[in-house]
Amino acid sequence: MEDCIFCKIANKEINSEIVYEDDDFVVFKDIKPKAPFHVLIVPKKHIKWLNDLDENDLELAGKMLLLAVKIAKENKVENAYQVKVHVGEKGGQEIFHLHMHIFGWPE
Ligand code: 5GP
Ligand code: ZN
Repeated sequence: MEDCIFCKIANKEINSEIVYEDDDFVVFKDIKPKAPFHVLIVPKKHIKWLNDLDENDLELAGKMLLLAVKIAKENKVENAYQVKVHVGEKGGQEIFHLHMHIFGWPE
């Protein structure tokens, strides 16, 4: 989607520190980390927010959650991490392209 910063990151039009990528997702370091390990799991498909997921996205949603666990394990934060999705401006959402934060504290 035009003018969406996370679409641009997914398309490599904007640089980011990518830690993982597959056909459906890109995972990159948050530019302003709020924990020792802080990445964003972003579906390549532009979905505005969590509320727009529907039954056609069941596989994507499941993959996203399992990917959070995989990323946590690969980065050795699996014993101390948080998974968070902000929804709506008052809910802390600044970028209106669905993303999941992983905040982690390495052993
Ligand atoms: P939200 O508040 O929407 O849940 O989270 C958006 C996150 O994206 C924030 O933590 C912010 O620091 C991060 N962010 C915003 N712009 C960029 C960017 O251009 N590059 C990266 N890597 N992170 C960004
Ligand atoms: Zn987007």
